[in-house]
Amino acid sequence: MPFSKLGLSPHLLNTLLKQNYAAPYPIQQEAIPAIIKKNDVLGIAQTGSGKTASYVLPILTNLQELKKIKNRHIPVLVLVPTRELAMQVQEVFRQFETSLPLRINSLAVYGGVSINPQMQALQYTHVLIATPGRLLELVENNAVSLSSVDTLVLDEADKMLNLGFKAEMNRIFSLLPSQRQNLLFSATLSEDLESINQVLLKNPVIIKIESESNHIDLITQTGYFVEDNKKGPLLRYLIKTNDIKQLLVFTSSVYEADNVADKLRKNGINATAIHSKKSQSARTEALNNFKSGKLNVLVATDLISRGIDIKFLPYVINYELPRSPKDYIHRIGRTGRAESPGEAISFVNAEAQNHFKVIQKKMGKWVTMIDAEKINLKDY
Ligand code: AMP
Repeated sequence: MPFSKLGLSPHLLNTLLKQNYAAPYPIQQEAIPAIIKKNDVLGIAQTGSGKTASYVLPILTNLQELKKIKNRHIPVLVLVPTRELAMQVQEVFRQFETSLPLRINSLAVYGGVSINPQMQALQYTHVLIATPGRLLELVENNAVSLSSVDTLVLDEADKMLNLGFKAEMNRIFSLLPSQRQNLLFSATLSEDLESINQVLLKNPVIIKIESESNHIDLITQTGYFVEDNKKGPLLRYLIKTNDIKQLLVFTSSVYEADNVADKLRKNGINATAIHSKKSQSARTEALNNFKSGKLNVLVATDLISRGIDIKFLPYVINYELPRSPKDYIHRIGRTGRAESPGEAISFVNAEAQNHFKVIQKKMGKWVTMIDAEKINLKDY
């Protein structure tokens, strides 16, 4: 079914074409008509499925019916777990909102940066995209009222729970009017999420797109048995011999992320670390440079293993394995998306061997292992 049959504002159709959205993705086919009809929606879908546009487009369509808003009383609230996702969602709103006759103002607010400019920018905002903590600070400062929220979106709700936002989310729910539309998106459906969805959603349209295991089939996975002192040379060997131009490397700690990026740079490889101890501007700059191809290697902690959409990312390397199998799947899920194949490589030291077996068992897939001892790493 084409976009023109989903009930969207006709003004959006041209922009969709210009943005190379030729046809709706499956989640969009189902979610767009349901959201326009003001149904609640529970979407189980990964980043890369097109879930952002699946709510942005119908929300913008519905907002065209809105006559007037009271200043600082937002009609649409989108809650997200990280600053990066907040900015990314705002970009999608911006992509489309300018083509509409009724001017729509969207704004992303998040912690880690000064609150004052955000308080000032909150003027006649229709769509507020916020991380929970910063939103509550803004509420406490009377910069925004949630009493007119008509549509609530929880994006990456599972991640918000993992990051410990449950109490803040509950506080936010208590500030919202009881009559409203609720749209909940999550990559997985955990028990905690079930409980939120029971409180929140009324007769939701349930949409489940592409299980993680289907997605994993798009990814070639390899493991290397390698001791810690050989991980650096092995990483450089893989980058050089495969002529890798865009690579996301995961470490388990901030310290190790900095360390790996430093060593790569010392060896003439264009690398930057991104993690929670970096300033917001450094994080944004690194991610933008990585997305545009200016930066070849981004070394990250799990902070960005979810939610961030990087088109055609060909390689992911786990310099260290994550603790949970779920995180492993989310990390390697940064590659092999949107019909482009990808490679995920994991470094496994002696200590991590059993753990890697557990991960493979949980994933339901066995990974080809290579012994790094057999590779001549002398020159790397
Ligand atoms: P998301 O899952 O929202 O992070 O979206 C994944 C990527 O798919 C984004 O880069 C979107 O710009 C792109 N995208 C979403 N829907 C479509 C579509 N119908 N056609 C082409 N690209 C799309």
